[in-house]
Amino acid sequence: MSTSSEWIARGDKHIAKTYGRYPLVPVRGEGCRLWDADGKAYLDFLAGVAVNSLGHCHPKVVAALQRQAATLIHCSNYYHIPQQIELAEILCANSFGDRVFFCNSGAEANEAAIKLARKFSKEKHGDNRFEVITALGSFHGRTIGGISATGQEKVRLGFEPVVPGFSYVPFGDIDALRSAVGSGTCAILLEPIQGEGGVNVPPAGYLAQVRELCDAHKLLLIFDEVQSGCGRTGTLFGYQNEGMEPDIMTLAKALAGGPPIGAMVTREAIAESFGPGTHGSTFGGNPLVTAAGVAAMKVLLEDGVLENCVAMGDTLRHRLEELRNRYPFVVAVRGRGLILGMELSIEGAPIVNKALERGLLLNCTVGKVLRFVPPLTVTAAEIDEAMSILDGILAEIE
Ligand SMILES: *Cc1c(COP(=O)(O)O)cnc(C)c1O
Repeated sequence: MSTSSEWIARGDKHIAKTYGRYPLVPVRGEGCRLWDADGKAYLDFLAGVAVNSLGHCHPKVVAALQRQAATLIHCSNYYHIPQQIELAEILCANSFGDRVFFCNSGAEANEAAIKLARKFSKEKHGDNRFEVITALGSFHGRTIGGISATGQEKVRLGFEPVVPGFSYVPFGDIDALRSAVGSGTCAILLEPIQGEGGVNVPPAGYLAQVRELCDAHKLLLIFDEVQSGCGRTGTLFGYQNEGMEPDIMTLAKALAGGPPIGAMVTREAIAESFGPGTHGSTFGGNPLVTAAGVAAMKVLLEDGVLENCVAMGDTLRHRLEELRNRYPFVVAVRGRGLILGMELSIEGAPIVNKALERGLLLNCTVGKVLRFVPPLTVTAAEIDEAMSILDGILAEIE
């Protein structure tokens, strides 16, 4: 086995340089811990960017994968796939949805949602209704459709022309959204809590107002729950904190407890526009990932994970607020459940780098927001450990 620096040197030769990677080579994980190729341990408060919500290598997910890998890994969506059916049943029984389309990532789930919204709206309201309004600061994935939907200029730079039919409004501003709706609007696409945009929680009641606006104009409301879904906010889906429901919801990240998966969930009447031959994916919902998905969702629903997320979310939030009270450069703490952000008046990158050196994995979004998305199974002792590392770093800042 090579050392971390040997792997990094080899990767530098042949891996596309699309990521600014930290000098870390993880080779093993268990719960909230990761170990690198040199045997050093880390406390993982990034959790594969909110993917490893059950911790690394949750035994029930591992067992499901091992069983399924030895039985049937892949078969075509030309056939009926029992594990996919079971996962769709679980998602529909626990949400507003009636039907699920499976794919392999968050971006693909959003592609499916946008395609469905366009097709449904054209069929229902005529050919001129295809525009989707999204929020500034949003993130919807890196495909051409995803960057077109994303309300951040920087992800589109150099890739123009993007897909036409998207416009962007400030997140949380209902008046701006009202003025943006026109005769060509078919849908509004929002994250219930913006993740990559800096852990932005909309004002109380905003999403319910968006629902009313959609009803008044017969628009589809699409929630990108790729990051906020699957227990992250303390309820199974983020919208369940808001006393309302979307028409379409996209999921990915934590849905299968680690393996790559995406899903688009919608109501029956809307799903009718996705008939045979309209959309598809070779790997989408294959037996291996959906077996993991069934196992992961059962753990989430039956093993007290949501309750732990709420309790540990409170604990972590209080600890972060304590730090805010003590350090003037900590401007705000926000989020819900275990998607928490600490906004700084200084750059976050040096803090993230020091944390890595001291065995704590974090990241920083939009330059100045430290993001905390640990496994939902995190313990109070692990939060203690992480906060004492962070406190030590903040104490060294002038
Ligand atoms: C991560 C993320 C995506 C993109 O998911 P991929 O699996 O990387 O394509 C889309 N939307 C949100 C809200 C995300 O957090």
